[in-house]
Amino acid sequence: MTRLPRTIAIDGPAASGKSVLAERLAARLGYFYFDTGLMYRAVTNEALTRNVSIQDENAVTQIAETIEINVLPATENAGDAASRMASVPSRVPDDASRQFTVTVDGRDVSYQVRRPEVDRNVSAVSAYFGVRRAMTAQQRRIAERGCIIMTGRDIGTVVLPDAECKIFLTASVEVRARRRMADRLARGQSVTLEQMRDEILKRDAIDSSRSVAPLRPAADAIHLDNSALTIDETVTRALDILNQCAQEWA
Ligand code: C5P
Repeated sequence: MTRLPRTIAIDGPAASGKSVLAERLAARLGYFYFDTGLMYRAVTNEALTRNVSIQDENAVTQIAETIEINVLPATENAGDAASRMASVPSRVPDDASRQFTVTVDGRDVSYQVRRPEVDRNVSAVSAYFGVRRAMTAQQRRIAERGCIIMTGRDIGTVVLPDAECKIFLTASVEVRARRRMADRLARGQSVTLEQMRDEILKRDAIDSSRSVAPLRPAADAIHLDNSALTIDETVTRALDILNQCAQEWA
């Protein structure tokens, strides 16, 4: 590879495999991986915890503007244990939620941000203009350090339109529903494939149709459909794409 792209944006719909891909690439390249979805989840979780109506745009926006969200590489500490005990899952999840420790005003909410209630409400929260403005500003600051892989819905289009490499990761809804179901079952939650399919379709619909920063590929994004690929194959294809971007920037 001539020169690695400094900033890599990976966007795509729910359960398309962004986290796993970004984690693998980051480990391989020695890059920092940042999952922006966790920030929207943290705002949603905070609103639910404070019993603020998700429909109350002003109140939810005020939360987004005033809480301090920190997303750090996962560590096993007392805060984690307390967070896990306070959260819904009865078994310790061993999935994407443990890639990061998420804190809000110093409180560890790593497990709460993955609870089904947050899944169901996060798309409504992330459609609010003020919420997005607050999150986008923080995400741009985080990306300034470079050598970063940022995942989300609007990274290539809005947050980092100048990212040196943009990947739009997709997979069929059936494949995504199956993956999400496996995640939930591993966390001890009982769900059906039908429920996962409905939830994913609903979230995709809200994320793609909102007026602010909708989920869509950037014009210069390279599409990668991993419906029929293993994780290793997806990583290999993504590395090819990074190579392609590196040559364009050389
Ligand atoms: O990626 P994840 O599924 O954790 O994201 C949760 C939700 O956060 C998405 O469904 C979307 O509504 C919102 N989101 C967003 N913009 C981003 C990242 C996530 O609107 N950059």
